[in-house]
Amino acid sequence: MNQDCPFCQIIAGERPGRIVYRDETITAFWDRAPIAPVHILIVPNAHIVSLNDVTEDQQELLGHLLLAARKIAQDQGVHDNGYRLLLNTGANGGQTVFHLHLHLIGGKRFPLDMATR
Ligand code: AMP
Ligand code: ZN
Repeated sequence: MNQDCPFCQIIAGERPGRIVYRDETITAFWDRAPIAPVHILIVPNAHIVSLNDVTEDQQELLGHLLLAARKIAQDQGVHDNGYRLLLNTGANGGQTVFHLHLHLIGGKRFPLDMATR
């Protein structure tokens, strides 16, 4: 855990968060500033800064994040109409919280050029 990281704090129960799913390796919670009717962040429980910091032996974690996103899309009722997954990496990628996270956004139709903000 990184004591200064807001997502580590949510995972540790030290900061409020609307958690919708958790298991041994990942946690999913609502974005505090949703840009769509469904906007959930899916994060590894371990503090990994960004996709650039994922190692070869963590491939399984990436697959787990994706399949959990699909499952949560089902749970949230957006699976059939479709949804968008975003993984912002680094400053130019628009990453503002430096704990790896996948955005699951759905419940409306998005333009092709939409970012998370
Ligand atoms: P990104 O720009 O990809 O790094 O996205 C960071 C996201 O985290 C933004 O959509 C924020 O609204 C969201 N966020 C930041 N702090 C919190 C928090 N404490 N709880 C929930 N979501 C947060
Ligand atoms: Zn963290």
